[in-house]
Amino acid sequence: MKEIYCKTALTNSKVPGIDYSLNPYIGCQHACIYCYVPSLLHIDREEWKNVKVKKNLPNILMKELKKKSKGIVGLSTSTDAYQPIEKIYEITKKCLKLLLKHNWPIDILTKSKLVERDLSLIKKFERAKVGVTITTLKEEKWEGGAKPMERLKTIKKFANNNIHSYIFFGPIFPLINEKEIEYCIEEFISAGVNEIILDKLHVKKGIMEEIKKAYPQQYQEIKKAIYGDFYSKTFKKIKEYAKNKIIVIEAW
Ligand code: SF4
Repeated sequence: MKEIYCKTALTNSKVPGIDYSLNPYIGCQHACIYCYVPSLLHIDREEWKNVKVKKNLPNILMKELKKKSKGIVGLSTSTDAYQPIEKIYEITKKCLKLLLKHNWPIDILTKSKLVERDLSLIKKFERAKVGVTITTLKEEKWEGGAKPMERLKTIKKFANNNIHSYIFFGPIFPLINEKEIEYCIEEFISAGVNEIILDKLHVKKGIMEEIKKAYPQQYQEIKKAIYGDFYSKTFKKIKEYAKNKIIVIEAW
């Protein structure tokens, strides 16, 4: 872990539905094997786990909120704003307080139940969306963060508090079977979320090697699925199954 000082807080975002990205950390302790951010930022995958803390981010944000035109702030697009280190530094919490003070809309996506700490704060926003990423409801070794069922419990709390909530269902595990898909969709609906966003695996530098290490036996089958028609067929099935039950959209 290293403390750093940043020059900018809000960066323009190309993610649909989000105007600005706010990333309190560089790197991520969850270290999911499918994470493609290290390759986008040209950071070594091992180095990615050594998180850099943007210590002065709230100060920079405070200045920018007075100058920039208001827009939806995504927390976070290239890290998890609620990874374990947030418990110590509370950079995300400090930024949320500022965003609330200036009445800016937010969209939070996380794999951590630490987001529950800020529920009462998030509830005060005029416009707030909170999502949790779930790739499968089985416990898999390919990602960090809270266990999938715990994430589901977390998002249920937000839904119960009338906060717009969603499941980022992705990257969908290439070995998931039809029964599991139906089970997942039913569990997501039971959690009371507003929508489900589907995403596939983005194969960037180093990801297939990581998958091979984690799943030597199933690697060939996973590879065949990723490069074949697994996602087009699976997304179609999900949409058909969820039709008239819940809104399902595909990620960017
Ligand atoms: S939680 Fe997101 S940013 Fe963190 S390692 Fe996993 S995919 Fe990457």
